[in-house]
Amino acid sequence: MNISDNLARINERIRAAAEKAGRDPASVRLVAVSKTRPAADIIEAFRAGQTVFGENYIQELVPKLAEVHETVQWHVIGHLQSNKVKYIAGQVALIHSVDRMSLAQEIDRQWGKLGKTCDVLIQVNISGEATKSGTTEAGAVQLVRECALLPNVRVRGLMTMPPFFDAPEAARPYFTELRRLSGAVAAEQIAGVDMAELSMGMSGDFEAAIQEGATLVRIGTAIFGKR
Ligand SMILES: *Cc1c(COP(=O)(O)O)cnc(C)c1O
Repeated sequence: MNISDNLARINERIRAAAEKAGRDPASVRLVAVSKTRPAADIIEAFRAGQTVFGENYIQELVPKLAEVHETVQWHVIGHLQSNKVKYIAGQVALIHSVDRMSLAQEIDRQWGKLGKTCDVLIQVNISGEATKSGTTEAGAVQLVRECALLPNVRVRGLMTMPPFFDAPEAARPYFTELRRLSGAVAAEQIAGVDMAELSMGMSGDFEAAIQEGATLVRIGTAIFGKR
């Protein structure tokens, strides 16, 4: 099985899941998670039509920014240390993993130096597991409010990682809860904030996530194979 075939299969499953949920398939975007994969795999996926790529580690992303000359769109999906933000300023389209004000402030500062604005999602730890990144559900609205005051950061939605991998029905309640929280934040009508994006769903559970409203699904293994 090659990357191109895997992508075709995943795109077909995304389309089917969206239609089953009564949603426009175009409302769901595929983020190909390319962590640990060489630049050659990214270029192969790009030639097969994939444009959005998600990376977890800045030390891995930075060399890829230089190696991949194709016009891909980069998303940061993993835990991000504030001292690494300067290496990616202006070079990524969306950061999915903003979970604290100190990180948002550093993004604001670094993008601001370039006269640019960075789109971000707020990562929420719905399960409350100690091992997971993310703000608490109770703290999410406050974090969005504070981020909204930063001139060079624009909040576009929420992201979560459920505790169960590859168990779609076990993960579903966490997806449902993120969607509910997104509605609650939207109802606050915070100036400069929209809740257009819901980043949830991975290789093992993206169909359930799409049924629960995902607009960005982050899929690695099912495209590139086991890491
Ligand atoms: C690795 C990773 C993914 C992709 O997981 P797969 O199971 O390989 O599809 C998605 N989101 C985040 C945050 C990840 O770290």
